[in-house]
This record gives sequence, C-alpha cells and structure tokens, in this order.
Amino acid sequence: MHIMNIVPEIKTNRIAIKLRPIAEKMVKRGHPWIFEDSIVKQNIEGNAGDLAIIYDHKKNNIMAIGLYDPQSPIRVKLIQFRKAVQINEDWFLNKVNEAYILRSPLLETDTNSYRLIFGENDHMPGFIADVYDTVLVIKLYSHIWFPYLNTIVRILQKQTACKTVVLRLSRSLQSSNDTYNLYDGQVLYGELESEVIVFREHGVLFSANVIKGHKTGYFLDHRHNRKQVGMLSKEKKVLDVFSYAGGFSVHALAGGAKEVVSLDISKHALEMAKDNARLNVPKGKHTVLVADAFEGMQQLIKEKKRFDIVVIDPPSFAKRESEIIRAKNSYARLAKLGAQLVASNGILVLASCSSRVIAEDFFEISEEHISITGRSFEIIEKTYHDIDHPINFPEGAYLKCGYYRLN
Ligand code: SAH
Repeated sequence: MHIMNIVPEIKTNRIAIKLRPIAEKMVKRGHPWIFEDSIVKQNIEGNAGDLAIIYDHKKNNIMAIGLYDPQSPIRVKLIQFRKAVQINEDWFLNKVNEAYILRSPLLETDTNSYRLIFGENDHMPGFIADVYDTVLVIKLYSHIWFPYLNTIVRILQKQTACKTVVLRLSRSLQSSNDTYNLYDGQVLYGELESEVIVFREHGVLFSANVIKGHKTGYFLDHRHNRKQVGMLSKEKKVLDVFSYAGGFSVHALAGGAKEVVSLDISKHALEMAKDNARLNVPKGKHTVLVADAFEGMQQLIKEKKRFDIVVIDPPSFAKRESEIIRAKNSYARLAKLGAQLVASNGILVLASCSSRVIAEDFFEISEEHISITGRSFEIIEKTYHDIDHPINFPEGAYLKCGYYRLN
C-alpha cells in the first residue's frame, strides 16, 4: 500500500545566511544549533522548514545547510555540514539508511523496539522515530519538518516495514495552530488496533501506550541498563525508584528476582508496571508503592527495609539552566537515600537523564553522597547511551548510569 500525502505540498525557500565568527567556529566543529543572535546577515525572511544556506563570512563558500525555524531561539537547525548537496528524497533516504545500519547490531538481538531517528544525532533535529514491533511512532518537536513529512514518512515506513505509523507532537506543536490539521496521536498509515503495543526488549516482553505514553510511549534509552539489572537480579530483592511503567522492574522480575518493589508518584504508571510485569509470567513477587520518591525512600529506611539492588532513575531535574543547582542537590539526596536502602554487598544503580548535569559531575555527586552515609563502595561500571541513541554533539549526551557495590 502506498502512503497518501499527509500534508499538502509546502513550498520552501532558500535563505542565504552569514554568522558571527564564534558561531562559524561552532558550525565548523559540526554543532547543529544556530541561535538567532548569531545571525548577522540574512537575504530574506524565512518560514518554518526553509533551507538555510550558511555561507562562510570571508570565503563566501557554503559551510552548512539547515532548516529555518522562525519560532525558536535556535533559529537554524543544521542537517548537512561542509559539502553542499541537494536536500531531497535521496538525501533523506541516505540519512535513514545510515541510521538503520548503525542500529543493526541491536536488531540482531531478541529486540523489536528501537529508536531509528534520534534528532540532531541522526542529522534530523527535533525529529524522533521509534519502532515498537510493527508500529512506527514519529514525534515532532518543530514545524520545520512539515514540508518534508510526506517524503520522510514514506522512507521510514519502507525501511522499517512497519504496518502502522503514528504521529506524536510535542507540547508546543500541540498548542500551535499551524500543524496542517495534524494532531497528536494521529494514525498516519495503517491501523492501530490498540493504543497499547507489546514488544520485546532483549527477550523480555513489555508494552507501551504509543498514543498517551510519555515521549513516544516508553524510554528506549535504558535498554542496556535494564538488561544488566535483569542479569543481576536472580533471587534478589529489588527496589525500582521512579519506576514509571516498570522498565527496570520487569527486567528484574524476568531475570528471576525474588521480590520487586516499584515506586512512583503516578498510580497510573504503576498500573502499567503491573500489567507489564504480568506479560512475562514472573515467579517473583511484585508490589507497587505510590509515593513521592524522597518521602517513600525515607519511609522505607525508617521501616528498616533493605534491598539487594536499588535502581534510581528519576526524570530530568534540570530542564532549564536555572535548575542545575537544585538538580544537583536532588541527585545528592537520592544517592544518600538509596545508599541507606542497599543491603550489605548489594548494588546501587544511579541514573541521570539531565543533559545539563554532565556525567563527570553526576558521578562525583553520587559517589560523594554514598560515602557520606558511611558506606564504602566499589564502582562496578559506568554506562552511557545505548547504540540506538548515538551522540553527535555535547547537548545530545544526557544519559549516564553508575553501578556501585556497597560493602
Ligand atoms: N525509570 C523509568 C523512567 C522514569 S520516568 C523507566 O525505566 O522507564 C520518570 C518517572 O518519575 C515518571 O513515571 C514519574 O511519574 C515519576 N516521578 C516524577 N516525580 C516523582 C516523584 N517526586 N516521586 C516519585 N516519582 C516521580
């Protein structure tokens, strides 16, 4: 079946742009963002998705090509560096193909869920494409993609052989009135029999609500950490803090955990966690605890509860620059609370997904605050992104995870 056009044909212009010297240096290094105040010359006004051609100030040759975003302080999102090429169907085909090849080792495992396009890191800023079994979920964070959507959706569907394509829109796109009548949760192709899709992650069954779930329904980025926790969990008692739909909990149960407690502030998330655990018919006991993580952990400490493995994977605490200090304090508190809940010779797993708190700082804070509780520890491992979340620029790196054995 051929995919019909999703949006009407949208004409794009080419805009010639020159930058301040500092911004030019960043572009030469391959950084994909050009802020509005870096632009010193622009020949015409631009619309969302127009091609922004960046010329070298002195030599006047083409340095890079991007998509113009009049509504964002990041005015141009670069997609092509150094070489001047046509941005057409072949260009997109190549990008999708390169992205797919990068993920191929993952697809040889017993996994049928993966991120095929990770925004800037796959040369498509603000564009996410995740696959859950035979459902492709596209999430857009900017208007710049609408002129290219018909072409890209066709290419992505063909590459993934998905039977259904679902569109998700960022909150800011949802509240905008120029989305060509496209809406969040729209089925663009095929049929969606159920909002909840069951998929496999290293042999473990899981489900995600692709219409209402966070992001595209699930957090694929932690796949290798979940596998790892699963492998460590045999006969163990595990606490999964900020469990959401139970990513770590389900892997722990599937790995033979004796008991798993999933803690989250959202009752709804915990109901999903219960359903997800049941998909794998676990032998261990699964309980859920609806609580604020800080209060809930304090309570468990008071009750003298101890766990062989404690996983703490909070949401991003620093969405803005101004929140960095508070975020660091929260990581410190979590490390301290977590350490007090780990049984002798047990493992504490601490994760952060705030790109504004760099890995080095996060690990330093975590380690300092485990020590403050009087526990000595060994670092087992530090991990970063799984292979379907490549990193191409500093801001693209957000996920870090430390494994500590506490004596
Ligand atoms: N660890 C999860 C992802 C965590 S997402 C996984 O592997 O998939 C963040 C979760 O933190 C959400 O489910 C949200 O409900 C929860 N959350 C946010 N603030 C919280 C708080 N103060 N206490 C407990 N849970 C919280």
